Amino acid sequence: MKPARAYIGLGSNLHDPVHQVRQAFEALGGILSSCCVARSPLYRSAPAGGPSDQPDYINAVAALDTGLTPGQLLAVLRAMELAQGRVRTVRWGPRILDLDLLLYDQLVIDDPRLTLPHPRLHERAFVLYPLYDIAPSLTIPGKGSLRELRANCSQHGLIRLDSED
Ligand code: ATP
Ligand code: CA
Ligand code: CA
Repeated sequence: MKPARAYIGLGSNLHDPVHQVRQAFEALGGILSSCCVARSPLYRSAPAGGPSDQPDYINAVAALDTGLTPGQLLAVLRAMELAQGRVRTVRWGPRILDLDLLLYDQLVIDDPRLTLPHPRLHERAFVLYPLYDIAPSLTIPGKGSLRELRANCSQHGLIRLDSED
């Protein structure tokens, strides 16, 4: 059967975030029945939505071709967060690794345990910019073209890192 194309959002702001995101890229490459087909550049972003006194985030997006179901993939992503030492504290608080399932083909799921597309992806510069870097012609179900969403989203507070940073 043809694999699905999934997009994963990566974020970290603790314990050497650049290292955490690179390690997560490696781990994504080893997921069963899956193949990591693209990695975006890394971005640095100011914290948004949670405590404002937390460190800046490092963010990126990866594309995965996968034979796993969305639920199986989310379970694997959660296990990867825990394996890298994530501890759950306050909502949107600092974390070693956050892996969000942004998209799974054009699937729409309305369930709080797994919502697709990810419910906040269309309003987040730290998702839209790296996603556009690896998939500029994407359409986000219910939201429109990624190109337009990105054009309407300020890049304020978001810095693209050079690959050697
Ligand atoms: P945000 O969702 O705003 O990015 P967060 O990543 O900090 O916040 P978490 O604490 O990591 O939130 O996850 C909260 C819950 O979101 C999880 O229990 C998970 O089941 C649920 N969830 C729903 N849809 C998704 C999705 N597309 N990807 C990841 N988690 C999801
Ligand atoms: Ca998140
Ligand atoms: Ca998450």
